[in-house]
Amino acid sequence: MIKKLKKIKPKELDELFNGLHHEEFDNIDCLDCANCCKTLGPRLTNIDIERLSEFLKIKTSIFFERYIRIDEDNDYVFKSMPCPFLQDDNYCIVYKSRPRACREYPHTDRKNIKSILNICLKNTETCPVVANIFKRIERMI
Ligand code: SF4
Ligand code: SF4
Repeated sequence: MIKKLKKIKPKELDELFNGLHHEEFDNIDCLDCANCCKTLGPRLTNIDIERLSEFLKIKTSIFFERYIRIDEDNDYVFKSMPCPFLQDDNYCIVYKSRPRACREYPHTDRKNIKSILNICLKNTETCPVVANIFKRIERMI
């Protein structure tokens, strides 16, 4: 499947994924899922951490202490999953100030999909939108 996808021109591949991304998100409500927030969690940048600390009205040092650990790749990630900001009803309490990685997930609406095909394939295990995109593309090619 990935080999076949790599043969498609980058611009056509972007159009294919971006179009299906919007169609699939019309049918799936993240509030019924929240699987990414329950299982993956974002990598946080310093800017994310500053924005979140400001939103929560706490010092960044306190934010680090409460929520952050450094993972095996030296990235900042949440200490525990599901995400500490996910509520029982699947709403995110920091939604307006959420990390950039949360805003961009599952990445299927971005440009240059060719460079992240393996990540997209991995995301089929977590995100039903991405799983459906791959199923539909498999039937097309
Ligand atoms: S896993 Fe996909 S469908 Fe589920 S909440 Fe995350 S982005 Fe939405
Ligand atoms: S910050 Fe919000 S959007 Fe990001 S993982 Fe946590 S609950 Fe989900």
